[in-house]
Amino acid sequence: MSHPESVVKTKTPVHWTVKTNYRLRTGSFAIMFTSIVFHGWDKGYSPLFWGLIALHLLAYPHLMFWRARRAANSQNAEVNNLAVDSFLFGILAAALQFPLWISFTVYIASTLNITISRGTKGMLLSQLAFFGGALISIGIFGWHVSPETGWPATLMCLAGNTVYMISIGVAAFGRNQQLRKTREALREGEQTLKQQLAEIQNLQEKLQEQASRDPLTGMYNRRFLDSMVAREIARCRREKTPLTVMMIDVDHFKKVNDTYGHPGGDEVLKNLAALLIGRVRVTDVPCRYGGEEFLLLLPGMAPDIAMLRANTWRTAFAEMSSTLDGVTIKATMSIGVAIYPEHGDTITELTHCADLALYRAKEEGRNRAIMYTEELAKAKS
Ligand code: GH3
Ligand code: MG
Ligand code: MG
Repeated sequence: MSHPESVVKTKTPVHWTVKTNYRLRTGSFAIMFTSIVFHGWDKGYSPLFWGLIALHLLAYPHLMFWRARRAANSQNAEVNNLAVDSFLFGILAAALQFPLWISFTVYIASTLNITISRGTKGMLLSQLAFFGGALISIGIFGWHVSPETGWPATLMCLAGNTVYMISIGVAAFGRNQQLRKTREALREGEQTLKQQLAEIQNLQEKLQEQASRDPLTGMYNRRFLDSMVAREIARCRREKTPLTVMMIDVDHFKKVNDTYGHPGGDEVLKNLAALLIGRVRVTDVPCRYGGEEFLLLLPGMAPDIAMLRANTWRTAFAEMSSTLDGVTIKATMSIGVAIYPEHGDTITELTHCADLALYRAKEEGRNRAIMYTEELAKAKS
C-alpha cells in the first residue's frame, strides 16, 4: 500500500503561454465568430450549426484555459490545447465549405500558435491536426468548396488577422523585455559571485600565510618548515648542491626577560627576526623554531660561506641594540651549523648535528658560531 505522502504531486505554476493564449484565443475567436456571422447570415445554417459554432468560438476558449490551469504541467496541456484548436479549425473550415479568408485566417493563426511554442515539430503537429479535422469534416458534411466571402466577412478577417499578429508581436516584445531583465539580473548576480569568490580566495591566501607564520616575529613557523623541508632536501640532492642548517639560540635570554621584562625580551626577538629576514635570500627559509630559538634553512650554501654568514649575522646582532620605553637592551646569540650532505640526509639528523654544535658554542662561552664535527658527537656520547 502506498503512503499518502508518496502520491502528493507538485503542481508547477501556470505557464505564461497559457495566460497569453487565453487572452489571444478569447479575443480572436470572438472576432472569428463575428466574421462567420457576417459570412453565414444568409446561408440558412441550422440552429444546431450556429449553436456548435457559438460553443466552439465563444465557450471553448474558457474551457481550454480551465483545463490547462488544472493540469500538473500547464505548458504541456497548452500545447495539447493548441493542437485541438487546429483540429477544430480544420473541421470548421471544411464544414463552412472553405471560405478563403476565414479558412486562411484560422489555418495561419493556429499554425503560428503551435510553431511559437514548439518550433517545426509544432508546425507539423498543427498540419496533422488541421487537415485531419478537415478530412473528418468532409467525411461528415461532404466535399464542398465555396471560397468567396462578402466584404463584411473579408474585412472582419483582415481586421482579425491584423489585431492577432500585432497582439502576438506585443506579447513577444513583453516576453523579450522580461528575459532581458532576467539576464541582466543574472549577470549582476554572477558579477557579485565572482567578486565574493575573489574575496574568499584572497582571504584563504591570507589565512594560509598566517597559518605558516609566527605572529610575534613574522618568521615562518615549525609547521611550515615541516611541510617543505623534505622537498628542499630532495631538490638539493637532485641538483647536487649543499644545504646549510643553522640553529640559533639567544644567549642568557632568561636574564633578558628577568631584567627588562617579557616585553623587553619580545622586542629583542622581533629585532633579531627582522635582522635575519633582512639578510637571507628569498629562497632561504628562516623559521622561529621555539621560544628564543631560530632555525635557518639555507639551500645551496656551502660550509665556508655558511660560517662566514653565521659570524656576520652574529656580530651584527651583538652590535644591535633594542629599545623598550627608552631603555637599551643588548643581547648576543650562539649558532650551531650543520651541512647537507656531509652531516646528515634528513632534517632530524641535520638539526641534531646543529644542536650539538650550538651546545658546544654555549659551552665555549656563547656569542659564537660552531660548525658540527664528528668529534662533537663522540664527546657527547
Ligand atoms: P642560554 O644562553 O643557555 O640559551 O640561556 P637562556 O637563558 O637563553 O636559556 P633558555 O634557552 O633555557 O631560556 C629560554 C627562555 O626564553 C625561557 C623563556 O621564558 C623565554 N621565552 C620563550 N619564548 C619567549 C617569548 O616569546 N618571549 C619572551 N620574552 N621570552 C620567551
Ligand atoms: Mg633556548
Ligand atoms: Mg637561550
